[in-house]
Amino acid sequence: MGGILVFAELQAGTFTKGSLGLLEAARDAGASLGLTVDAAVCGAIDDGAAAGLGAHGAVTVHVSEGHAFDHAQPVVDAVADLQAREGYRYVLFGASIVGSDAAAGLAVRLDAGLVIDAVELHDEGGSLVTRRSGLGDSVLAHCAFTSAVGVVVVRSNTYAPAEDAAGSPAAVRRSTPALSAHALALRVTGHEAAEQGGVDIGEADVLVGGGRGLGKPEAFALCEALAGALGGAVAATRAVVDAGWYPYASQVGQTGKTVTPKLYIAVGISGAIQHKVGMQGSGTIVAINKDANAPIFDFADLGVVGDLHAIVPKLTELIRARG
Ligand SMILES: Cc1cc2nc3c(=O)[nH]c(=O)nc-3n(C[C@H](O)[C@H](O)[C@H](O)COP(=O)(O)OP(=O)(O)OC[C@H]3O[C@@H](n4cnc5c(N)ncnc54)[C@H](O)[C@@H]3O)c2cc1C
Repeated sequence: MGGILVFAELQAGTFTKGSLGLLEAARDAGASLGLTVDAAVCGAIDDGAAAGLGAHGAVTVHVSEGHAFDHAQPVVDAVADLQAREGYRYVLFGASIVGSDAAAGLAVRLDAGLVIDAVELHDEGGSLVTRRSGLGDSVLAHCAFTSAVGVVVVRSNTYAPAEDAAGSPAAVRRSTPALSAHALALRVTGHEAAEQGGVDIGEADVLVGGGRGLGKPEAFALCEALAGALGGAVAATRAVVDAGWYPYASQVGQTGKTVTPKLYIAVGISGAIQHKVGMQGSGTIVAINKDANAPIFDFADLGVVGDLHAIVPKLTELIRARG
């Protein structure tokens, strides 16, 4: 009773990377707070996959089934039902279309305090205190709850899951929650990608980010070839998205996505703070820039000073040659 519940989001039958990382962060905060961490899963999942969340910190995985859970309201009903039965003190969601909507609905349902855009979780005096980013990431507000239940939406992909996650399998408990009339009042009839050919950069292990240094939109072919050789995807800065060189779905940063790939190669990117906040959690950051004083070199793990037009094709060729 009184523990932490993390919404483990399924997309196309697989847990999102951000959900797994959030579970691990909750486990660490919970260990300090003396609270156990459980996971809430909405939708069809087999026992093995559900129990596997134990490796990321879940003690018990509650699987809600029997409905489509294709929008936020059924998720609110399922999680509210779990909270009523188990008395969770904190309920955590990763930011996503369903996660963010469900968190807002749940907070209203439970009369709970709600923190959105949290980027850190802390134990302060035995209570969970979040850091909420504000004013263009220039300030971090420290937010504690005065309500009986606290609901948190963590910025998407803030926490990357450990590659070598290991732990005992979680206990799996299944239930079919009763849905409210308004949850049943909406049915999602289909999905369509807004931008054709778009890859979800939030889920990619390797990202090659392209910036204004590419010089022209056609030069993104260099990033695409390098990403292809590494089995990754292409990201972009706002400067090139605003210029119409690459789609918004690829934008990383304050007004784009937060990403935590294992490897981020920044090509012709200056490293402005608004870009940095979206990719600084990457495992290894490599920067290719002709200006040795570019800010990106202040936080890159590896820097290459030179003309990207000479370096990137050569690098791609070498990676391809290594198979
Ligand atoms: C409210 C607000 C929100 C913002 N949100 C975002 C956001 O979400 N994401 C984001 O990215 N930005 C965002 N920005 C914009 C941000 O401030 C920067 O303007 C932007 O990130 C710069 O993009 P860039 O690095 O591609 O371009 P530039 O800053 O112009 O950098 C280009 C770099 O390429 C290098 N270069 C040039 N030619 C070559 C060459 N041949 N070989 C190698 N290197 C070369 C240059 O040395 C330079 O460092 C935001 C700004 C504001 C005010």
